[in-house]
Amino acid sequence: MTSQCRRLDGRFALITGASRGIGRAIAERFAAEGATVAINYAGSQGAAEETLKSVQAISAEEGFADRKHRIVQADVGKPEAIAAMFKDVLAAFGRLDILVNNAGIQTETPSETYPLADYERVIAVNLTGALLCSQAALRHFLNRPTGSLGYGAATKHSGGVILNCSSVHEIIPKPGYIAYSISKGGMENLTRTLALEYADKGIRVNAVGPGAVDTDMNARWINDPKMRHDVESHIPMGRAAGAQEMAAVFAFLASDDASYITGQTIFACGGLTLFGDFKKNWSS
Ligand code: NAP
Repeated sequence: MTSQCRRLDGRFALITGASRGIGRAIAERFAAEGATVAINYAGSQGAAEETLKSVQAISAEEGFADRKHRIVQADVGKPEAIAAMFKDVLAAFGRLDILVNNAGIQTETPSETYPLADYERVIAVNLTGALLCSQAALRHFLNRPTGSLGYGAATKHSGGVILNCSSVHEIIPKPGYIAYSISKGGMENLTRTLALEYADKGIRVNAVGPGAVDTDMNARWINDPKMRHDVESHIPMGRAAGAQEMAAVFAFLASDDASYITGQTIFACGGLTLFGDFKKNWSS
């Protein structure tokens, strides 16, 4: 990976669910742009170690060989694990500038029988976990010295960035996945409410809404040519995305290039949110 920019040089980031998929790509991209990253995972220690190796190699390649990246195990569906994760990361880094709430899961069952235990687990990981991580990051952002983000004496705030990994299902219903739909719908107001509450403190809160991305979450169809073709036929741009294409949007929102953007969800979805059925007129 050769990055053209060093927009995150000197920043410290925690990315939840970074052992695989979109989270891993975010960790790699942030490292390429100069950040030091904490790679959170829940159960896949081996994958997290692979990500760490890859991130270290990328940092070295980009001239940031001294970055002390780390792995931190925590199930973000468990409040006590989140508290321990922040303790670990803040003790190791001494500061945090960027939180990415990326960890996410889904399960499929018709809504009339969707198990309560599944509902509670999906909400705990995707939404409550994002809130609890945001709270811990906010407390740190609000209590650290001013000028921490490198804006210098010109700002009276320490600043900070929170990014949420949402989904096109923030606004498009996903029948059979009621807990996932609710979690991503909730993420919109998590993003917007925190953005408004802390805008005057120099803290920006935004989200990225991916469409269909080539990750393990889509293992059911991504490696089956027929099923993949069927899925991609519904995407206006005609293809699933690579995780790196999501990471690029996260890097932009994390950087000072997005210094005047808060409370927004950027849908990186190949046009999925454009009501593709209306491409050819059928309504008038
Ligand atoms: P993925 O390939 O399945 O990877 C999920 C990641 O989340 C893994 O690193 C996993 O860690 C971690 N994770 C799962 N449960 C966790 C928990 N309780 N605590 C901490 N980490 C946990 O998924 P992905 O496709 O990259 O998805 C990442 C995010 O993008 C999710 O929020 C998802 O909703 C969103 N998204 C994905 C797509 C898509 O098409 N892929 C589309 C829209 C939105 P372990 O390896 O330890 O299990």
